[in-house]
Amino acid sequence: MNLSTPIEKLPYIGPVYQKRLKKLGIKNVQDLLYHFPHRYEDFSNVIPISKAKINQPLCIQGKILEIDNSRTWKRGITLTHAIVEDKTGAIKVTWFSQPYLTKTLKPGDMISLAGKISVGKNGIYLSNPAYEKITSPNLTHTGRIVPVYQETRGLSSRWLRYIIRSALFQIQNQIKDPLPEKILKEQNLLPISQAIGQIHFPDSEELAQKAKERFSFENLFFIELSVLKQRLKIRSLKAPPIPLSLKFLQRLTKSLPFKLTDSQKKSAWQILKDLEKPRPMNRLLEGDVGSGKTVVAALAGLNAVKSGYQVAFMAPTEVLAKQHFKTVHEMLKDFKVDIGLLTGKEDRFYSKKLDNDFIEISRRKLLEKVEDGKIDILIGTHALIQGKVKFGNLALVIVDEQHRFGVEQRARLVKVKNSPVIPHLLSMTATPIPRTLALTIYGDLDLSLIDELPKGRKKIITKIIAPKEREKTYKFIRKEVKKGRQVFVICPRIETPETEKENSTWGDVKAVKEEYKKLSEKIFKDLNVGLLHGKMGSKDKERVMKDFKRKKINILVSTSVIEVGIDIPEATIIMIEGAERFGLAQLYQFRGRVGRSSRQSYCFLLTGSEKSSSIQKDIQASGKTRQRLKALINCKNGFELAEEDLKIRGPGDFMGTRQWGIPDIAMESLKNIRLVEKTRSIAKELLEQDPVLREHPLLLQKVKSFQEKINLN
Ligand code: ADP
Ligand code: MG
Repeated sequence: MNLSTPIEKLPYIGPVYQKRLKKLGIKNVQDLLYHFPHRYEDFSNVIPISKAKINQPLCIQGKILEIDNSRTWKRGITLTHAIVEDKTGAIKVTWFSQPYLTKTLKPGDMISLAGKISVGKNGIYLSNPAYEKITSPNLTHTGRIVPVYQETRGLSSRWLRYIIRSALFQIQNQIKDPLPEKILKEQNLLPISQAIGQIHFPDSEELAQKAKERFSFENLFFIELSVLKQRLKIRSLKAPPIPLSLKFLQRLTKSLPFKLTDSQKKSAWQILKDLEKPRPMNRLLEGDVGSGKTVVAALAGLNAVKSGYQVAFMAPTEVLAKQHFKTVHEMLKDFKVDIGLLTGKEDRFYSKKLDNDFIEISRRKLLEKVEDGKIDILIGTHALIQGKVKFGNLALVIVDEQHRFGVEQRARLVKVKNSPVIPHLLSMTATPIPRTLALTIYGDLDLSLIDELPKGRKKIITKIIAPKEREKTYKFIRKEVKKGRQVFVICPRIETPETEKENSTWGDVKAVKEEYKKLSEKIFKDLNVGLLHGKMGSKDKERVMKDFKRKKINILVSTSVIEVGIDIPEATIIMIEGAERFGLAQLYQFRGRVGRSSRQSYCFLLTGSEKSSSIQKDIQASGKTRQRLKALINCKNGFELAEEDLKIRGPGDFMGTRQWGIPDIAMESLKNIRLVEKTRSIAKELLEQDPVLREHPLLLQKVKSFQEKINLN
């Protein structure tokens, strides 16, 4: 047996259990041993029977005098009664519904029992204790600190303890430590074989803690090595250097209807400086919603085009791709730039010969032009990387609202196979990244920050609206619409499934279709109400967005399709139904749809949880919901909010970190900035001495599998 032995090969694990383990992602011995307990129970205090006290967790050890089963008269449950004796006295023991116990436990057996003493009609007894026969001094379920694993259907802690114990017994001492000895010593960390034993079966609380520390460090260390190695790799690659065309850049900034903020200027400068270098930029432009990232991207794009290169600009949704297409076209209309649009369903091409008009061409034609280098900027959705798109002369990839875009993905866009040059990457996000995460899982990226909003913006007034204030809120909306303002109403889903319509507890999770009907036919009959959701055809979506932009629609009822990027300056109210159903980052994005002009804007949060509180889970959640919504109200900016979100939800749920397979105990360490910084510097030092980890093959292996997980390539 070794760490990569599949669980099928282990004794005592039949097909049923194999399936259950695989549900938890446990495929081999390594996965099994890295399935850590989420807490412990301390049964290490073995006491004489005469000293046993009621209602306290305790462990006793003695001999079984008698044991047999009986059935309760009323409910037909099997009770197992036993009497156990030590030198100081005897005690009754009762188990419920475990008739098979009499097959394994016999009078005369030495037994160890852990649990609590209860009082019944016939005196005191030990109730349903954990048990095990004493055959060696090494106990598994009693008489020690006992691991408790996350409850999963069909996988009891007792069973897991047993399986993990036997695996440990066989290979614990053969596990090679991926961490270099020098680091273990300097950081005073437990070596792997000891740590893996102590994390499951600790000899003391301190050792359990030490084991946790070791694994926290280990995980952070793998992350740091992965991202730092990626940085080194990118530095060694070639990219087309793009010289600065100050003349054009100045002309563009002068033509804008506003002055760039200092942050915009600074970020643009960092980007342009990076682009001059002959190695690929790997930069993340971070800026609050509405901080004006698009124009910074346009500056970088224009600069590349004027040096004779092509630019790819990718957006997460079709609606947003079209918006970028129009914005960029508008911004660059005096610069003779050919811009193409490529989405899943539509292709368009803008030619410089026909001012201000778009020509529709076929996808094939469009791709040909891209390949011949005739389209300067190609804007699109994921269709950009899914299709057979090849650029003749690509130098810059801009990605909106996606953090990472691998080197290999970039290389695939270039026409010449195995081209020695890789395009630069500018990635943009409005999701503020807490510092700990910027230094860990985003540690391969350079950061530029737009940390101020354009002048004259007012703070958005954010309010939680109680059900009884709904009418008042509608009145307010009507008043604002009469002043010429526009409104978003967001609902968590498109429609209510038939099955749920009868079930009143769920009835108040709002759906756009029904809300649209209600608002357009009843509440705002005299106003223009529009509907937008992801299942509409792209032509319809576009028409609705156009109508909204032209103010033909006053109130737009929408699902989360408007979440990112959409820019409607006249919209000043966003009303979010079922706010508890959205993540904090998402709510923040929604709110960013308003407050895009110097007018006072409002964000109204409505929750459905008041009514559906009959569901127990919702009651528990509602405290957290309130905390989250409060955080949205109180935070000064997105960064503060992100830190708060990280605290409330933990890194596990923050931006999908869960899928990276970092154990929960190590997740905690992702919040610890001091540990993060320390680990980073240790990783840096190691890579300086051994950049390809030649002398640390085990580490290299770990790093590689981690890189695959977070798609770092
Ligand atoms: P985001 O960073 O969220 O992508 P956008 O690029 O969509 O923001 O910009 C939001 C709005 O702010 C747009 O209408 C844009 O024209 C405007 N804008 C950008 N920069 C400035 C500025 N410096 N001053 C005033 N308005 C600006
Ligand atoms: Mg944007």
